[in-house]
Amino acid sequence: MEYRSSVITSKYLRSRKIPSTACSGCGLGLNHKIVVQAISELGLDVADVVWGTSIGCAGRQTFATWKGDGFAGTHGRVYAISRGLRVALPPEKKIILTVGDGDAFGIGLLHLIHAARSNADMTVIVNDNLGYQSTGGQYGWTTPQGSHTDSSPYGMFEHNLMSDEMDVLDILKGAGATFLARHVAMDGQRAVETVKKAILNRGFSLIHMPYPCPTNFASRELGSRNQVNIYRWIQERAAPLGEEKENTVWATGIWHDASNSRPEFSEYVHETVEKIRRTGSI
Ligand code: SF4
Repeated sequence: MEYRSSVITSKYLRSRKIPSTACSGCGLGLNHKIVVQAISELGLDVADVVWGTSIGCAGRQTFATWKGDGFAGTHGRVYAISRGLRVALPPEKKIILTVGDGDAFGIGLLHLIHAARSNADMTVIVNDNLGYQSTGGQYGWTTPQGSHTDSSPYGMFEHNLMSDEMDVLDILKGAGATFLARHVAMDGQRAVETVKKAILNRGFSLIHMPYPCPTNFASRELGSRNQVNIYRWIQERAAPLGEEKENTVWATGIWHDASNSRPEFSEYVHETVEKIRRTGSI
């Protein structure tokens, strides 16, 4: 097990993709580091993981960074592709996806719900930059209410997937996800421990991970691209579950852990096919 960042980086990531093409000060690198650190601490090798990416900042900046097998699925299709891969791949192969909030909770939400419903074994890391930042900073499905964005100059007022009674994690729990958590990018080792549990769940796991976008979100909401301000702004609005304050937007920690509690999609498919082959019926 390695702890030094440079050692972990050269073991798991392609040198030609470092440094990333993200804007200076972007918090996405913190999320990426948390995931790779968790993989390292679990003792997994490059060949043990297939890494999928989506669209937007999160997809673009993590695409082809993994030294091993990887793929990209555009516009919310990465979850459907992963369900197919899950059936084709050996069960011990981990599928890890780094996607964005627009991809997962917007255009891909129905595919995501079906992946959760079927309890397909994959770990989805939703890197949330609080809106559509790669297209200039429009509000999205988890933009905190009241935030000023390119498309909400007077403050985002819509009921969305982070509003009372409509948290996207509750929707996914209802759909059947067996592991759900939320962390902000600055959660460090707490988040690493959660990602390790998510990867070990033989079923559908998702971690929602808001991170700072200095370039678009911060410049419109805080009037400045000063990185310190947006990191502080997010930190002040995050608190561990059970320690929430009046201004808490992101309660962090494990939201729902029903790991290994119900049949996994590909196991069920393989067992059912085998039974039909043997007996001619289900
Ligand atoms: S636009 Fe924002 S989220 Fe996207 S790479 Fe730049 S800082 Fe990061």
